[in-house]
Amino acid sequence: MCPERARLIALHPETRKENDSAMMGTAVHAGIEAVLRGEIVPADIADHSVNAFRTRQKELQSEGKSINITNTDPKNWDKHIASMAEAWARDIMPHVPEGGDCEWKFESKIANVSNEVFEYELWFEGTMDYFHPQGIWDWKTAARKYYQAEKQTQNIQSAVYAEAATRLGLIDYDVEFNFGVMIRNASSTGQIVPVVRTAKHGEWITEQTIALINNLLTVKLHMPSTRWLVNDQHFLCSQRWCPVWEHCKGSYIPSDNNNAEEAQ
Ligand code: SF4
Repeated sequence: MCPERARLIALHPETRKENDSAMMGTAVHAGIEAVLRGEIVPADIADHSVNAFRTRQKELQSEGKSINITNTDPKNWDKHIASMAEAWARDIMPHVPEGGDCEWKFESKIANVSNEVFEYELWFEGTMDYFHPQGIWDWKTAARKYYQAEKQTQNIQSAVYAEAATRLGLIDYDVEFNFGVMIRNASSTGQIVPVVRTAKHGEWITEQTIALINNLLTVKLHMPSTRWLVNDQHFLCSQRWCPVWEHCKGSYIPSDNNNAEEAQ
């Protein structure tokens, strides 16, 4: 989304922080995974998720670190985590086909790239929250509901995962990719947002990625000390969500003007 963000984080690894909302999402993921693996019954998902959060919090404390508070209230953490986990079990789980794989890590070679200047291999890697031959599932915790039309037209993750899965021979196009979304509040509801990725989406995301990499490699080769592409037209560009804000836009624009509500 913002290549400069990736470059600056690599240059300033000390800026990496554990955000509250991301940690809450990770805790809910732990509960979902435990249910799908048959390690706990769905009725225990709330307790399991809250415990996962508290365990991670203690680990951070023992490392002398704390949770970076963004747009949540610490006194609501437990009940929001419990509510989201229960929303998944109630509203989403009944629609998830059984027999798939949880936390499916993949590395998939996409292309050999060769042009006038560069020669390299393009690989996509990531982790599917749940893979089933009928489709790919990804769990999201969010402040508000997703708009299906926006995800169908703009979402990149689904195109990357679908291309990787088809290259690995796991599934054929057209690929159904489902977002299982839980709203972050005390009376959470679950929402399933399906998008479809075709072979043409796969070709486009591959071409788009190669164009981006070629541009970045060209800058790195000829102007190694200059900034990469600086994209501030998105939610993550704010003091709240960008860990390198102070090294970038934050050194020009006061944070009050960038009070983004939520990372998508
Ligand atoms: S402040 Fe904005 S433009 Fe700068 S690195 Fe972060 S996201 Fe990118």
